[in-house]
Amino acid sequence: MIIFGTRTKLLQNSDYTAVGNCKYCNTAGSIYAYKHVKYFHIFWIPIFPYRTEIMSVCNHCKKVNYQREIDPQTLATIRSGGVPKTPIGYFSGLILIGLLFGSAAAAGISGSIKTKKYLENPAAGDVYEIKREENGKSLYTLYRIANVTMDSITFDVNDYEAEGTKGLRKLREQRGDSYSEKIILARTEVAKMKADNRISTIERK
Ligand SMILES: [Zn+2]
Repeated sequence: MIIFGTRTKLLQNSDYTAVGNCKYCNTAGSIYAYKHVKYFHIFWIPIFPYRTEIMSVCNHCKKVNYQREIDPQTLATIRSGGVPKTPIGYFSGLILIGLLFGSAAAAGISGSIKTKKYLENPAAGDVYEIKREENGKSLYTLYRIANVTMDSITFDVNDYEAEGTKGLRKLREQRGDSYSEKIILARTEVAKMKADNRISTIERK
């Protein structure tokens, strides 16, 4: 089964008006414009067209001319309005990819807005992702707010540390409730940690 590859489609001008006279069979008004679109597809969904070429076909003798073979006058007529438009559907994949990136970016922005908000108004139960670097590796753990005062925050420190974001995900799933030590940090220190990118996200339930 072919799940991706290239396909071609012949598009005809929607108003089907002749664009010229045929030089081969000398029939007047027998030339019609087409556009040959080659596009990439995945599961038959067009991703994007990578090549388009204007073609002309004589309705009478069926002579096909590719773009370079079409006489300049006919080509000018085609270009000035007779070129079939490539339907937007042929860009489905690109549009989809654009939307995905757009929503990922939007999610990232809303996440960082939330993190900023939670940082400014800390509440008991907020879980901070804490990152530190060691020998070029990123190590993560969780700090959970136990208590907040005017100028300090008491955190429960998770008993485990994980390598990388994947390890952190596992830590959350398996050791998300293992806290035994506490640490008290001045709120200015916490702000400094955020500025140093040592706090990646803050979650509130
Ligand atoms: Zn002809």
